[in-house]
Amino acid sequence: MPIERTLTIIKPDAFEARHVGDIIKILEANHFRIVAARLVRLSRREAEGFYKIHRAKPFFPSLTEFMSSGPALVMVLEGENAIARLREVMGATDPAKAAPETIRKLYASGIEHNAIHGSDAPQTAACEIGYFFPEVELI
Ligand code: ATP
Ligand code: MG
Repeated sequence: MPIERTLTIIKPDAFEARHVGDIIKILEANHFRIVAARLVRLSRREAEGFYKIHRAKPFFPSLTEFMSSGPALVMVLEGENAIARLREVMGATDPAKAAPETIRKLYASGIEHNAIHGSDAPQTAACEIGYFFPEVELI
């Protein structure tokens, strides 16, 4: 299995509910290594830039409002097969469909306020890591 890097965001809902520590505990238990971290409060514009692939979707305005509504913790995670594995540990976008013990099953309150983001493919991961971290900040 290749060693990969992926981008995750502990979203404002999980931050507000004080589940940051719980989520990091799950990530570390699943052998992800944190190689960069930043606490951010995204502007609306930054949230729109990050999720631009969804700009035509009906939920884009509320998604970007939510993502800019409070602090969020952005991290780069490293590990074997990290991109696909993070998506498994996160669970389905809609927590009602997420597998038991996944982060979204445990901490998401709905399809939009779903606690965590994870890159969905190698190209997306590279692009999203570059959106938040200059190369020099990656350990
Ligand atoms: P993420 O990209 O945040 O990891 P994802 O890849 O599981 O989530 P996407 O389809 O990329 O899901 O959607 C991005 C985000 O937009 C979701 O995580 C969620 O916060 C929000 N979202 C997705 N679908 C809906 C929807 N039908 N209604 C409201 N919000 C949605
Ligand atoms: Mg996505």
